[in-house]
Amino acid sequence: MNQRRAIVIGSGVIGTACAYSLAKTGWAVTILEKGKFASQCSHGNCGFVCPSHVLPLATPGAIGTTLKAMLKWNSPFKIRPGFRFTLWRWLLDFAKRCNNKDMLESAPSIQVLLNTSRSLYDRLFQDEQIQCEWQKQGLMFVFRTPKVFEHYGEINHLLAEKFQAPARKLTRDELIQLEPALKPDIAGGWWYEHDAHLRPDLLMKEWRRVLTEKYGVKILENTEVKGFERKDKSAVSVQTTQGNIEGDTFVLAAGALTPFLNDRLGCRIPIQPGKGYSLTLNRPEKSPTIPLIFEEDRVAVTPMQTGYRVGSMMEFVGYNTTIPEKRLRYLQETASRYLHDPGTGPILETWFGWRPMTTDSRPLIGFAPALQNVLIAAGHNMLGLSMAPATGQLIAELANGQTPSIDTRPYDPKRFG
Ligand SMILES: Cc1cc2nc3c(=O)[nH]c(=O)nc-3n(C[C@H](O)[C@H](O)[C@H](O)COP(=O)(O)OP(=O)(O)OC[C@H]3O[C@@H](n4cnc5c(N)ncnc54)[C@H](O)[C@@H]3O)c2cc1C
Repeated sequence: MNQRRAIVIGSGVIGTACAYSLAKTGWAVTILEKGKFASQCSHGNCGFVCPSHVLPLATPGAIGTTLKAMLKWNSPFKIRPGFRFTLWRWLLDFAKRCNNKDMLESAPSIQVLLNTSRSLYDRLFQDEQIQCEWQKQGLMFVFRTPKVFEHYGEINHLLAEKFQAPARKLTRDELIQLEPALKPDIAGGWWYEHDAHLRPDLLMKEWRRVLTEKYGVKILENTEVKGFERKDKSAVSVQTTQGNIEGDTFVLAAGALTPFLNDRLGCRIPIQPGKGYSLTLNRPEKSPTIPLIFEEDRVAVTPMQTGYRVGSMMEFVGYNTTIPEKRLRYLQETASRYLHDPGTGPILETWFGWRPMTTDSRPLIGFAPALQNVLIAAGHNMLGLSMAPATGQLIAELANGQTPSIDTRPYDPKRFG
């Protein structure tokens, strides 16, 4: 019997995870990538695999906090909708969801993807001997204002009570003893001990090696998909800049660019790019050992074995491709506010990425309503790295006609109409 052919569109961490799970279950997989393999949002992110991030972005009070932050000249948030109708619509829908009911509705379906992926990563690294600086030191939320530090206790209480995901509270002295790279001018920290981190570009390089060498996956770079050729209710091929490519099942994993391909899928894909930045340097001499989030300034620091990254920002400004100097300065200045040695050596890489943002913080995972052999795996927001293995597993189960191991209804692509 001929091997079934799966075509995966997009080579980010989501497309790669889907390709892996499909190839493992016997599919002949081809990945089509418009640029270079994994060179977009999955390249320079902060590398956190964080089951702690259970709550969606739309929480009660999120609008007020964001608006207040935006009044500051150097805010980590920026919204400039201009005449972009789709962005206005997105913002309105997001604002409607900033309430307790919607927050609690989204959180369990975020959590199950995070927890499942965390375990699947352990298995992946063991089975495939992937070396990507996988470290299990947890993730520390650091606070500089005593009031805000104590106030975070309410979120911790919610996470502990409803989601069994509490953090360990550390006083200022306990935190400095554990992480002497921090300056003394802090209030304390909340430590999520079960989170982990890795070096994203290394993960993608190693995963590519495994896909091609062990599972015979083909990767076609510089191959942009423009649309689907259909027969009745199925797609028979994709139209690409390199000609038509046939397949039996298609997986659309194009990250923040997914809406450009939704013409004939039969559903609205309201994904907006949430732009963020990072700086990568050599690891400073007095580097932190635990990944840190400076919660009040929304900046994250990732100590990798072979480097050190500072990342942040959430800008809703359309598909903008610039890296303004002042945004990079904000990252460095914030790091130096908290750390003795914020990394003063040469900057090895400056980077931006478009997070694929949905209004309910849930990804879209499931069949396209109008094409019965096209699966969508997109919209993983701020947590694509943390949700990738579970997404890949679900896509393979759906493609294989199995009952999915996680209830996929919360990720139904049809939910936006
Ligand atoms: C500053 C920053 C920090 C972050 N930190 C973390 C973190 O610590 N942990 C975490 O879990 N997440 C983090 N994220 C989020 C995470 O990076 C994303 O959720 C994730 O990378 C999205 O993966 P993806 O595969 O969907 O998209 P992408 O990585 O963008 O991949 C999509 C691919 O599809 C290709 N493509 C698009 N259209 C087409 C087409 N028509 N034809 C062919 N190819 C196409 C693109 O070129 C791209 O390569 C961070 C993001 C940012 C910006």
